Order: sequence, then C-alpha cells, then structure tokens
Amino acid sequence: MVESLLSVRGVAKSFGGLRVLHDVSLDVVEGGITGLIGPNGSGKSTLFDVITRYQRCDAGRVTFAGEPLDGLAPHAVARRGLIRTFQLTRVFPSLTVAENLLVFARSARARPGGGPAAGKAGGGGEGETRAVELLDVMGLLGLAHREAAGLSYGQQKLLEIAQVLMLGPRLLLLDEPMAGINPGLADEVVDRLKALRTRGMTLLLVEHDIPVLHRLCDQVVVLNAGRVMAGGAPGEVLDDPHVREAFLGE
Ligand code: ADP
Ligand code: MG
Repeated sequence: MVESLLSVRGVAKSFGGLRVLHDVSLDVVEGGITGLIGPNGSGKSTLFDVITRYQRCDAGRVTFAGEPLDGLAPHAVARRGLIRTFQLTRVFPSLTVAENLLVFARSARARPGGGPAAGKAGGGGEGETRAVELLDVMGLLGLAHREAAGLSYGQQKLLEIAQVLMLGPRLLLLDEPMAGINPGLADEVVDRLKALRTRGMTLLLVEHDIPVLHRLCDQVVVLNAGRVMAGGAPGEVLDDPHVREAFLGE
C-alpha cells in the first residue's frame, strides 16, 4: 500500500452546539491532485482549518508525512510544508506582483529556526530567482511590475498561489481557487495547477465545477453535512447516483 502524505482519521468538530464534522477520514497520496466537493456549509473550509490547525478538532487525528500534527500551531504546520490558501483572496493590492512574492521570501528568511520548507524560499537573490521561476510557472511573468490591484480576480488568484509556493510547500491546500474566475481564465488555472503536479507538488482543493474536477483530479472526496459520503476516482465518484442526488440535486 502507498503511504499517504496526509492522513485524516476520525476527525470531529463542533462550534457550540453545531456539529460541523463527523468522523471524517481521508487520505491524500503524494504527487496527485485531490478534489474536495460538497454543498455549501458541508464543512469543507472547516476541514481545511482543522488540517492546518487554524481550528482544533474535538476528536481524531491528522498526520502529515508520517507525523501527527497534534498540538502544533498553524505556522509550525506551514513550516513542515503543509500550506493553505483561504477562500477569499489576500494579496497586497498596492504592491507589484513581484513584490507580492518577495514579501513571502523575506518572511521565510526572517522566521527564526525556519525548517526545510521555509529555507527553500530563501531571501535576497535566492528569493528573487525563485520568484521569477514561480511567476513564470503561474503565467504572471509579464505582469511582474504591475500593481496587484490592477490584476483581474483570476490573475490575483494565480498570484496568491504563487505567493504560497514561495514557502516551498509539499502539500498545498487551495480553498475554491476557481471561485469567481471567468471561464476563459479557469482553463488557464487548471493548466497551471496541472503544471504544479508535474513538478511533484501534491494538491488538495475545494472545487465545485464537475468538468474541472474530471480534468484536474486524480481523486475526489465528497463531504455532505460533515460526513465523507464517497471517495475515489472522479469518473466513479461523480457518476455515483447518491452523490449526484446530494450534491447536484438530481
Ligand atoms: P463549506 O466550506 O463547506 O461551505 P464551512 O466549513 O465554511 O462549510 O462551514 C460549515 C458549517 O460550520 C457552517 O454551518 C458554518 O456556518 C459553520 N462554521 C464555520 N466556521 C465557524 C465558526 N468559526 N464558528 C461557528 N460556526 C462556524
Ligand atoms: Mg468553504
């Protein structure tokens, strides 16, 4: 059996009396793209919060690269190479595209005792070299000296992904990277994410668009009302009548 890079076992989470996650288990194998789907409010973002330790879970365990993440702070999780983006885009609007990346290089360098993930980003010349490389991978090199505020929403999403790539992730969690992107640029984002997989990156992303899931993902996990209701190859999962009924209202 292939050992998974990320393993979630029996995770439960409540907010007050509201039970948001029930006994959630899933595995992400290294080098692939896993799609997480589910209706609004099914707990996808909360699961990302629990995995990255922005929220504590009430029960269960998350293991990354063979080590439990229990008790770690979010920055310590990130330093191990498990990095996430948020549902709402957060770039620095008045900085240029290139500066938006270099901010991440500096913070990686300044971090005391930064581990291997942080070290990869580096500062100074090394950070600049990496920034250029990542802007190229994300198709933003031609926009390097533009103010981020002048980018389209989709380009800002690509910039946000490039920013977190500066931190040298081993596993990248993307919360709705395609949301609000016009269909023309969505194809580009799909291609850019596939290029990351080719470079050995592992991705777990929240996505709703069925054709995108088919084109992009090696595995799809369905969350419904805080429970995993299906998981497997996109062809099987997305054609499952129970999934279609719950998720697509068919
Ligand atoms: P999804 O990302 O699948 O749309 P969320 O994980 O954002 O779902 O939310 C799942 C449920 O948890 C929703 O009912 C939401 O209102 C609730 N919830 C999420 N975060 C909090 C929080 N910090 N405090 C209270 N309730 C929350
Ligand atoms: Mg969400």
